[in-house]
Amino acid sequence: MALATTENTITTSDRADGARDRRFGPAMALSCRECGARYDLGPSFACNECFGPLEIAYDFGRVTRERIAEGPTNIWRYRSLLPVPEDVASKPNMAPGWTKLVNAGNLARELGIRSLHVKDDSGNPTHSFKDRVVAIAVEAARNFGFHTLSCSSTGNLAGAVTAAAARAGLDACVFIPSDLEQAKIVMASVYGGRLIGIEGTYDDVNRFCSELIGDELGDQWGFVNVNLRPYYAEGSKTLAYEIAEQLGWRIPDQIVIPVASGSQLTKIDKGFKELIALGLVEDRPYKIFAAQAEGCSPVSAAYKAGHDVIRPVKPDTIAKSLAIGNPADGPYVLDIARRTGGAVEDVTDAEIVDAIRLLARTEGIFAETAGGVVVGVLRKLVASGTLDPDAETVVLNTGDGLKTLDAVAAEARPTAVIRPSLDAFRAAIA
Ligand SMILES: *Cc1c(COP(=O)(O)O)cnc(C)c1O
Repeated sequence: MALATTENTITTSDRADGARDRRFGPAMALSCRECGARYDLGPSFACNECFGPLEIAYDFGRVTRERIAEGPTNIWRYRSLLPVPEDVASKPNMAPGWTKLVNAGNLARELGIRSLHVKDDSGNPTHSFKDRVVAIAVEAARNFGFHTLSCSSTGNLAGAVTAAAARAGLDACVFIPSDLEQAKIVMASVYGGRLIGIEGTYDDVNRFCSELIGDELGDQWGFVNVNLRPYYAEGSKTLAYEIAEQLGWRIPDQIVIPVASGSQLTKIDKGFKELIALGLVEDRPYKIFAAQAEGCSPVSAAYKAGHDVIRPVKPDTIAKSLAIGNPADGPYVLDIARRTGGAVEDVTDAEIVDAIRLLARTEGIFAETAGGVVVGVLRKLVASGTLDPDAETVVLNTGDGLKTLDAVAAEARPTAVIRPSLDAFRAAIA
């Protein structure tokens, strides 16, 4: 693992275009989010100086709307804004993204807001937004010569990793808490590879994976959300790009995003900022709202208490995909919500179930529990006057309801079970 020393730190100005490592496209270096120290692009995730998280620094050059529009209808249309090579789309990959931005007029009317869209990421190949982040991590794994793809997962990531590894011809070994929904266990095992259930919470699983990396596996395995995290995280920027492009190159006034580790929210903000900096959209303010389940709401609790520090919790919620009690990017979420004039809010399990049914009934979208968290929080923010009902609003549905059937199964049954006779039918619907 080659880390640059501070003496040969790379900046966008002193590295000539010809010296670029083209395997990483416009990416130039890893940069510490806390102290700004720079490192060569490698499989590392924490700063040697201050232990802060590393992120990708770019030199984009000129990027135009026209050039993007000529690209494929998946995340690779934005390859000039991602740490991937120009020919990325030609390698075996899941081609996620370009999911529907649904004009949710019925739900908007029901909630009393003027303009609402649902960005429906259940349409991705393994039915959650995780295919986006994994696609970038696979490229990083290829570049670093890792033959095994791994992760600690709250469920959706495990399926996205095993599927992408299968397509890319890599081995997979993924780690989950052993008590996940059955659909997520099936999704994580059907694509082959090894699936290890850990007796404990996601936070226990994550700690264990960090131990594995320290214990030499880090030189052989690409843990997409640990040693490949800086690359992985960039995949979430494509949600920002797609939403803006699908709105006709405009950033929405308000957006509601679910928070587990907080990586997705942090990178959607980064994506919006890049679009503004590149002149691809008008420079207008936008507000970012973060959504959590009450049973795992460490960021919301800190926000409401006015704290900058996040106190870890032990999760207890049906929204298992968001059940991270010690969110790595939590402090950045707080910062973004406060800086943009947004907020952080949470909803109970009962409100999540209600919201899943509301979205299904009004828009024909069946969301997993994370989507219920977002729609539930949207409803709560409108009711409390925190969200402007006249401003253009986008909410994310990050996963498919078929993966969390138990959340609504208790109330989902036939209206009636009858003999096939007209009389019985008339009696049943009377
Ligand atoms: C992982 C996940 C999220 C949130 O991801 P973070 O980047 O960790 O905040 C949201 N929704 C679903 C369905 C997920 O699987």
